[in-house]
Amino acid sequence: MAEPGALSEIDAGPAGLAVRLRGVTKVYDNGVAALGPLDLDVRKGEFISLLGPSGCGKSTALRLIAGLNAPSSGEVGVAHRSREAQAAHSIGFVFQEPTLMPWTSVRENVRLPLRIAHASPAEADARVAEALAQVGLADFADAYPRELSGGMKMRASLARALVTDPDILLMDEPFAALDEITRFRLNNDLLALWRNLRKTVIFVTHSVFESVYLSQRIVVMTARPGRIAAEIRIDAPEPRTEDFRTSPAYAGYCREVSNALAPSYAGQAVS
Ligand code: ADP
Ligand code: MG
Repeated sequence: MAEPGALSEIDAGPAGLAVRLRGVTKVYDNGVAALGPLDLDVRKGEFISLLGPSGCGKSTALRLIAGLNAPSSGEVGVAHRSREAQAAHSIGFVFQEPTLMPWTSVRENVRLPLRIAHASPAEADARVAEALAQVGLADFADAYPRELSGGMKMRASLARALVTDPDILLMDEPFAALDEITRFRLNNDLLALWRNLRKTVIFVTHSVFESVYLSQRIVVMTARPGRIAAEIRIDAPEPRTEDFRTSPAYAGYCREVSNALAPSYAGQAVS
């Protein structure tokens, strides 16, 4: 699936970097300049959001970090736990659509990446069970996707991304289609998973509120081709709870991030 030459291996270095982008651009074959130039460092264990208007290149950035596409120029570096680790297994990807196979069970959907990796059946069973427990779906292993709510489908998709125990979790507007209460629950559960599993999370959203709630740092992007308009650190006490959502500090950060984002929407048609 990966494009040749898409990723280079980086040394985590003293800063403990998980991802490093240098002068990264992407121009698609049809001539659309989608992204960059972009310079970005993400520390191991960090939770960052990429926030920007529709079409500014957020998904493109994730696909480059995942090695699914190669950049047109610049370098995309990802640190792996070990030299042997394949990029495909050290990165988990959660898409906006849960993309579950409708003809098979939740268990088999979550098992898919392990099949591709040729894990032994016993190891696969254990890891699938663990991933389902992590997302709260232990009791739904035998269910079919059509039997699940939207939030549960997204949980299954998250379990499928976690099943290989990746270092880095890339999440592309995963909760955008969910109702607000379900989204809040998934936000809280994702934060708990992040704290417990110590993954590096790069979360794409166009919701200011969601990005402030979840992130340690928000990378605000310009309109296409997406560059960095601002980086805003969210220094809120951990663990974050529903109290944070209603705090003056939260409202203040939302205002600051909205202000940083406003120019990225300037000149766009009214929507
Ligand atoms: P975002 O995720 O921020 O909405 P995308 O990364 O999906 O933005 O897309 C950025 C721009 O690149 C858009 O104008 C989109 O139409 C274009 N684009 C995305 N993928 C492709 C592709 N495979 N070929 C050509 N253009 C693309
Ligand atoms: Mg997108």
